[in-house]
Amino acid sequence: MELKLVPMKILVLNAGSSSDKLALYEFNEEPAHPVSPLWQGTIEWSQNQTKISAEIKGKKILDRATHALDYKEAINSLLITLKEGNILSDFSQIAIVGHRVVHGGTLFQKPTWITPDVTKEIKTLSLLAPLHNPNNLEGVEVCKALLPRAKQAAVFDTAFHATIPAKANTYAGPYQWKEEGIQRYGFHGISHQYCSQRCLEILKKKPEQLKIVCCHLGNGASLTAIADGKSIDTTMGFTPLEGLMMGTRTGSIDPSILLYLQKNKKKTPGELLKIINFDSGLKGISGKSGDMRDILQSCSQADPYAILAYDMYVHSLKRNLGAMIGVLNGLDALIFTAGIGENVPSIRKDVCEGLAYLGLAINPQKNQDCRPDEIVSTPPSKVAVLVIKTQEDWSIAKDCWQLQNNKET
Ligand code: AMP
Repeated sequence: MELKLVPMKILVLNAGSSSDKLALYEFNEEPAHPVSPLWQGTIEWSQNQTKISAEIKGKKILDRATHALDYKEAINSLLITLKEGNILSDFSQIAIVGHRVVHGGTLFQKPTWITPDVTKEIKTLSLLAPLHNPNNLEGVEVCKALLPRAKQAAVFDTAFHATIPAKANTYAGPYQWKEEGIQRYGFHGISHQYCSQRCLEILKKKPEQLKIVCCHLGNGASLTAIADGKSIDTTMGFTPLEGLMMGTRTGSIDPSILLYLQKNKKKTPGELLKIINFDSGLKGISGKSGDMRDILQSCSQADPYAILAYDMYVHSLKRNLGAMIGVLNGLDALIFTAGIGENVPSIRKDVCEGLAYLGLAINPQKNQDCRPDEIVSTPPSKVAVLVIKTQEDWSIAKDCWQLQNNKET
């Protein structure tokens, strides 16, 4: 018997280390293509104040900086605008809250309902993701308290990478590491999965026809090699620190540097953690900012440190791209996504020009002017280059819908 589908409102909570993003979606039928959320909310955390903003279809309905709020107060202040903006008459209309959970370890390879047992496992995994999983769990607790009628679901950023084979996810230390859970997990999986599926759709190809590298270039950045629709390798590893140079993170460095700093400069583990996560990357080299917009601005004023930071960023991308292409034994499609991937034509140009040896050619005008979800390579290019707007929140909402309706995700 065919079940009748009822309209369903799904709230997504995407909790990060310095900001939280919320979005409310409504699906009347099986979601096939991204739709705009009915409502979006953002909380930006800093030491002394909390900034909260909300908008309905691009129109700001709240934009306020207050004294530092606790998590529950901040989420509550945002949710109230759902009623004030006439999006909801009652919070019980929210059927599901979908949480982006950063680390699912080897245990969670699919979206799942958050039960007490699942919460316990996510808590255990906090050991592997101390900057992320505890935030995610706090979000779950707050949503349970504020929206007691809604079901809570977790969608994991590591899940897409569960298909990476042992030869690529095992570190070349003692094998005991692997047995203890020290292995490559990979992150940004929700984005890499969505963008690779969208790429197949745009190019009208089947998964087995394309070797894809997806470049997710945001504040955090990673590359994923995708064959037959599956992740077979990725640049991030045990934590989101490995791989590319990022906004404030080092990316891969020789681990001996940390031992050197610990022994000779008396740095504590906490200080080192802060340096490699928050004071490095574009910010560490430019001495100014980890935001690519600021780097571009400083480059235009011939600031030598910003120029070095930019050049290093492109170099790091090319070096890691070479590794992903090597693992794939070729390349059919290259995707650029997230804040930098979608919005900085010069990065795409500088990376792609170096790939002419693959028969890859971009159309300079299209690359400069492209809108989301466009092909920016020339028609004869042997590799298709695409700029795709990542849709992590929509993907989480879609996964929740599928979980509720027993559809395979
Ligand atoms: P995300 O983490 O995806 O939000 O990406 C954040 C990064 O994207 C930051 O480095 C921003 O500077 C960069 N970004 C976002 N929009 C633009 C833009 N229009 N031009 C240049 N960089 C941008």
